[in-house]
Amino acid sequence: MPRSKTRPRFESWGRYPTLQADLRPLNWATDFPLPNPPATRLLPVGAGRSYGDVCLLENGTLLHTRGMDRLLAFDSETGILRCEAGVTLAEILDFAVPRGFFLPVTPGTKYVTVGGAIANDIHGKNHHVAGTFGHHVQCFELVRSDGARILCSPAHNAEWFSATVGGMGLTGLITWAEVKLRPIVSRGIDYNGEKFVGIDEFLALSRKASAEYTVAWIDCVATGKNFARGIFMQGEHSKEPGPLKKSPEPWLIFPIDLPAFALNHFSMAAFNTAYYHKQLPKVKTAKVDYEPFFYPLDSVLHWNRMYGKNGFLQFQNVLPHEGGREGMIEILRAITRSGLASFLAVIKFFGDMPSAGMMSFPKPGIMLALDFPIRPGVSFDLLDRLAQITLEYGGRMYSAKDARMTAQQYQAFYPQWREFERYIDPAFDSAFWQRVTGRRPLDE
Ligand SMILES: Cc1cc2nc3c(=O)[nH]c(=O)nc-3n(C[C@H](O)[C@H](O)[C@H](O)COP(=O)(O)OP(=O)(O)OC[C@H]3O[C@@H](n4cnc5c(N)ncnc54)[C@H](O)[C@@H]3O)c2cc1C
Repeated sequence: MPRSKTRPRFESWGRYPTLQADLRPLNWATDFPLPNPPATRLLPVGAGRSYGDVCLLENGTLLHTRGMDRLLAFDSETGILRCEAGVTLAEILDFAVPRGFFLPVTPGTKYVTVGGAIANDIHGKNHHVAGTFGHHVQCFELVRSDGARILCSPAHNAEWFSATVGGMGLTGLITWAEVKLRPIVSRGIDYNGEKFVGIDEFLALSRKASAEYTVAWIDCVATGKNFARGIFMQGEHSKEPGPLKKSPEPWLIFPIDLPAFALNHFSMAAFNTAYYHKQLPKVKTAKVDYEPFFYPLDSVLHWNRMYGKNGFLQFQNVLPHEGGREGMIEILRAITRSGLASFLAVIKFFGDMPSAGMMSFPKPGIMLALDFPIRPGVSFDLLDRLAQITLEYGGRMYSAKDARMTAQQYQAFYPQWREFERYIDPAFDSAFWQRVTGRRPLDE
């Protein structure tokens, strides 16, 4: 009998789902042009910092880009950096900060690649003024399985640019890109944190906020008079010249997979209460380093082990301003009622700038992001309910953080998916795309 080949198993940052695939570390000398037709379907993968299955492909070949990690050119007049797609944002910061430059947009971790940042058109705390990562990409090269190499920019092959920014790796492989960095004079951030209680106080603070970076941490466990309490955080790059050295390497590593019982309602409620009271005065101002301001979780490597082997689910959505207040209250109530808690919940206003990508997630409104440990029979039901509320209030969910949307929900959130399909490389596929087009059933 022929033996079936056992492929290694891969998981993303959320550790769910775990799927079999071959991993092919890309090599410039031998892998281009890409094999056509390939032995299996292909999907590029960067640092695997997405949460669900957008970077996974069952029984496919993952084209691992991390070896494509060269910085190719830098113009200190314009701040334009050309680099290969497997370079991480951490590597860019190590190069750029000592030269007085910073990323134009950064997510809550610096351990993502440039290719991954483009393919999910990531956003940061400055979305309301800077838009998404794609707005700062000057151009990139897209390699297709038929051997075509397409130079894409907002002005040149603009339809390929728009399909690939936020295109979840499905339109082909990005090999290199040019990104415009912004100048800074110090590592310092002028920080202001203000405590609030309730969605209305959060909304009022968001409306009057003037800083470049804004985000709020919100307690998703507290009920009664403490319902929706949180800390509204604002920051600006310091204008006072200060140190511009490279960050030290992190040395803390989360050592083990915690058992499922360690993260329960009580431990998370205790964490949320402690976090809220960590700041004693109602308003606090300070000068802080950019690392803890942008990347509080990066100081502990492998922190996702905290959720144990079962992994965890992210929920990230945006609701339009109209009805957004009521929708967010309904979502927060559904979470507190479920008994499932989250420590890492953030809420923020997205700005009005139309995204650079056809399938990009951000749109004007209120964005909420949080994590739940996977508890059989509870977590999936809650996620399904939150997706449904999002749909009812005219919002959408973020593909990079999702392991659960149904095909029907996805297609309602992103009705342009049919138009996008025309740009998908016939040799490329993903577990996410199979799920949201109805080709792969939902688990459980
Ligand atoms: C702690 C944490 C905080 C986060 N905070 C934010 C946040 O604030 N904002 C936000 O937007 N996101 C956030 N994210 C999500 C993360 O920024 C995105 O998932 C990002 O795309 C991950 O990049 P990656 O290099 O790990 O890509 P992967 O996860 O490996 O892949 C992501 C997608 O990009 C595609 N891809 C990767 N490389 C290429 C390439 N060279 N060519 C074509 N396609 C490619 C893959 O096929 C896949 O579809 C966060 C994630 C973590 C773990």
